[in-house]
Amino acid sequence: MRFSRVLRAGAIVAAASLALAACGTGSDDGGDSGSGGGDGGGTESLTIGIKFDQPGLGQKTPNGYEGFDVDVATYIAKELGVDAANIEWKESPSAERENLIKNGDVDFVVATYSITDERKQEVDFAGPYFVAHQDLLVREAETGITGPDSLNGKKLCSVTGSTSAQRVKDEFAEQAQLQEYGGYSECVSGLESGAVDAITTDNTILAGLAAANEGKFKLVGEGFSDENYGVGLKKGETQMRDDINAAIQKMFDDGAWAAAIEKNLGPAGFEAPEPPEITEK
Ligand code: GLU
Repeated sequence: MRFSRVLRAGAIVAAASLALAACGTGSDDGGDSGSGGGDGGGTESLTIGIKFDQPGLGQKTPNGYEGFDVDVATYIAKELGVDAANIEWKESPSAERENLIKNGDVDFVVATYSITDERKQEVDFAGPYFVAHQDLLVREAETGITGPDSLNGKKLCSVTGSTSAQRVKDEFAEQAQLQEYGGYSECVSGLESGAVDAITTDNTILAGLAAANEGKFKLVGEGFSDENYGVGLKKGETQMRDDINAAIQKMFDDGAWAAAIEKNLGPAGFEAPEPPEITEK
């Protein structure tokens, strides 16, 4: 077991160097993406899309970028031969992820990004590396909203381009009124002021927002979907996808994945589950 893992890690580094070398030369995808150097001895770099406003997952703080997605992305980058110092983080709002990938503005996206068939028509995914569930966040004093069956006449906030907003439109359009914003932090102000009655998205995001706003909100805790988080990348980049999958598997196996969950999502009440099976190959 151990022997084959070592061999595999060696293969990843070798393959990653090749992939990055190919990326650094001859790529005309413009923007600020891709690796630096290319004229020998240059520092390889990566531009990675994350969220900037999701505590516990992807958050821009005065101390830098923090969260589970940041740690997963940093681990993957390292396996691809890129140090944390050479990662450029690019904010990737829910509605812009496919475009950022397709335009080459990012090398890949690690941003609570659910793998869906619709998105797979535009981008490829590696993973999944986590399974979240759509849920509801309400004010601490709320007693009327107990799950997706109690949304009659309620105002729900979610984010444009998310699977969460889409599910409300598909399944709860008759009961609930949906307000769509650009990011989940904007929904928080609405929940606080009473402009909306609940925020709906993944339990990971909602639990992080609840922990960051202690005493104000509570998670309903009735998950009503499976959100398989994948790493989104350009269609057809099979070598990169294989390398990312190998990095994710290594992170599962060496304990770094469980440690990253405990560190980032533990304060919001999560424990590391069994890792999911990697299906996007
Ligand atoms: N995981 C869901 C999605 O990919 C909701 C979270 C988000 O908007 O990032 O759309």
